[in-house]
Amino acid sequence: MTNLAAWLLTQFDELENHVMYSGGPDCEYWSKEEMVDDLQAKRQIVEDHADQHTCVVAAAREVPYVGCRTLRLLARPFAGRPGYLDEWRP
Ligand SMILES: [Zn+2]
Repeated sequence: MTNLAAWLLTQFDELENHVMYSGGPDCEYWSKEEMVDDLQAKRQIVEDHADQHTCVVAAAREVPYVGCRTLRLLARPFAGRPGYLDEWRP
């Protein structure tokens, strides 16, 4: 598993913990269950892209040995978090 994939899974875990245990109410638009389902779907995307590879549909935008564009796009909302690397920017 690449560093980007592992880092993303950690972000999803932290976000899920926040959603489930922060004590706040559901968002007006999404319930906590829907937010957790969204994170679970994203975890599965990460798992499909977790190892070093080239994404065929975005091959022209690949950055070798950094991470595929799919994962770099998934990571973008977390760019302000500790551990995010500039080289991951899509
Ligand atoms: Zn990929």
